[in-house]
Amino acid sequence: MDIRIGYGWDSHAFKPGVPLKIGGLSIEHPEGLAGHSDGDVLLHAITDALLGAVSAGDIGSFFPPGDARWKDADSAIFLELAMAEIVNAGYRIVNVDTTLVLNAPKIGPISSDMREHVAELLGILPANVGIKAKTPEGLAADHVAQAHAVVLLERLEEPGDVQSMSAVMQSQRELEDVVRDLVSQVHGVAAKSPFDTEDIT
Ligand code: MG
Repeated sequence: MDIRIGYGWDSHAFKPGVPLKIGGLSIEHPEGLAGHSDGDVLLHAITDALLGAVSAGDIGSFFPPGDARWKDADSAIFLELAMAEIVNAGYRIVNVDTTLVLNAPKIGPISSDMREHVAELLGILPANVGIKAKTPEGLAADHVAQAHAVVLLERLEEPGDVQSMSAVMQSQRELEDVVRDLVSQVHGVAAKSPFDTEDIT
């Protein structure tokens, strides 16, 4: 199969006194998104879409919410792992499209910055990332942020692709080693590979 599609969805409640991060961007707002990690609802949805596209499970199977290592974690780490999974499966991202559903803050003024940042995290051009936002009309979801994401992948075929795939896999392994060392130092626990089916929140 040369192309694959993936879909991801996530939701987080707003909570006072928590920094707000969406799409990897720190956003000035009185409330942030509650969660075991940094609560980045958009990166979680994209992570699930990537994992789903290669049938590699979901975010909770790699990062269980009860695991102390992922307390307040930067969700870019989750995205990095999902990207390593799709490269391991022999694919690369063609494009990503997303929709945020939330009342506030308004995403329009920062959607361009968010698009560029998400594209950078994914290693693709901003032209291949869609960031859209809607208010939750009629959903009685005033204090919640939801994110939907779809991704399209294509198989790596060219010799140059395989070469770059090897380089990416090597850099992913190095990154995972660094992350493992960091979390061990911070939390004083030995890193392991947890598998669980619960969602990270
Ligand atoms: Mg989440």
